[in-house]
Amino acid sequence: MSGITNGVLPIASPRVRPARGRLRDEPVAGAKRVLLAAPRGYCAGVDRAVVAVEKALEHFGEPVYVRKQIVHNVHVVSELEQRGAIFVDEVDEVPEGAHLVFSAHGVSPAVVAGAAARGLQAIDATCPLVTKVHREATRFAGQGRQILLIGHAGHEEVEGTMGQAPERTILVNSPADVDLLEVDDPENLVWISQTTLSVDETMETVRRLRERFPHLQDPPSDDICYATQNRQVAIKKVAPDADLVIVVGSANSSNSVRLVEVALERGARTAHRIDYADEIQQAWLDGVRTVGVSSGASVPEVLVQEVLEQLADAGYRDIEEVRTAEEDLMFSLPKELRHDTSGTADERALGGRVRA
Ligand code: SF4
Repeated sequence: MSGITNGVLPIASPRVRPARGRLRDEPVAGAKRVLLAAPRGYCAGVDRAVVAVEKALEHFGEPVYVRKQIVHNVHVVSELEQRGAIFVDEVDEVPEGAHLVFSAHGVSPAVVAGAAARGLQAIDATCPLVTKVHREATRFAGQGRQILLIGHAGHEEVEGTMGQAPERTILVNSPADVDLLEVDDPENLVWISQTTLSVDETMETVRRLRERFPHLQDPPSDDICYATQNRQVAIKKVAPDADLVIVVGSANSSNSVRLVEVALERGARTAHRIDYADEIQQAWLDGVRTVGVSSGASVPEVLVQEVLEQLADAGYRDIEEVRTAEEDLMFSLPKELRHDTSGTADERALGGRVRA
């Protein structure tokens, strides 16, 4: 990914989108079709985080700073940057007293303290489902347990969750890590996880953990969030019938990358992740009758529609939606942004957004 500099942080996202090259409609044996997975795209946590930055710009004016990418999507970050958001890597890059939004992936208490020490006006757009995992970590650590956090090293969410109880938490990257773990007390362990993992791989990691540590305790409820699970269930239904699966999502979007992996595991002949429709290559369509399409939880639907337009150029005009769940969850805006005094309390909390 090429990066540009906005004067503060090299943002790996914005780019000039080239004129769309048309795909050719080459003949294949049988009728061409698209299986469009649903649910796909925006989840409640991403919607809330993006609206939080928009509302912060509206209420406080430019500039509004955002620590890290608000959500892991190059298009969304680019659009917000054009509207006046400035993305930074750490709080010490933000001028004292400025407004700073924490991203949907969450932050550690050390980051919150760092922002307070600089007198920053913090707006916490951490997804409530990530906050739930943070609370579990704090509670388990307070009970004197050692926490095995299943997640990917270096991911911002993992850094934020590890930071809740750094002395009591060990990161488990994959099933292969289990044999290498050194724990204080095998009888006093609990596992939690990143919210955007593969459900199947996580269950395999837990199975191996329990084999090694039979007294391992479970968290009270799933940490892999509803949106990640729903998108994986839908792509599992599509994949066995797909010669090709296209997942719209960015390279650093954990749940988008997992969708590609799950599609391949569940029988898709090939699968590719793309940010934009113009990345579809003619060669991917050779001999392909059925294309499965989905998108990660941080992807606006407009990008999926552009993919469908590209595929229509190539003869894939017959679109069948494969829906495995309905979603209507919406989260309230961060409290710092519930300024609008019109409407009911519920409407104010949703910031004028309309339930699907
Ligand atoms: S993917 Fe899940 S945890 Fe992440 S923002 Fe969306 S709902 Fe929240």
